Amino acid sequence: MGRLKRLPERLSALPDRVARVVEPDRTERPAYHAWYKTAEWQKLRWKILVRDRFTCRLCGVVEGRKGQQIADHIQPHRGDAALFWDENNLQCLCKTCHDSAKQREDKARW
Ligand SMILES: [Zn+2]
Repeated sequence: MGRLKRLPERLSALPDRVARVVEPDRTERPAYHAWYKTAEWQKLRWKILVRDRFTCRLCGVVEGRKGQQIADHIQPHRGDAALFWDENNLQCLCKTCHDSAKQREDKARW
């Protein structure tokens, strides 16, 4: 079983679809809340908003006001570090779209 222990490190190198098959360790799930408080996340979040030109990918509204644009995880990360930190899994959404459509979608899926 020595191979299993190394899996989480190796997951980050795998394509999303493959990584999704392996469930993240549920006992460690709450740890991801802390990721949102890191300087790394603030940096990545800003990078996504700039990359998407502060334009909501769902409704197309351009929103420059602070706190009104959200760097949203396209595929819910559920504590999976590979998904959480993947730029390709992030999109800019306005608060309205994030709070309505996206939340409903998440609930329906899980
Ligand atoms: Zn929107």
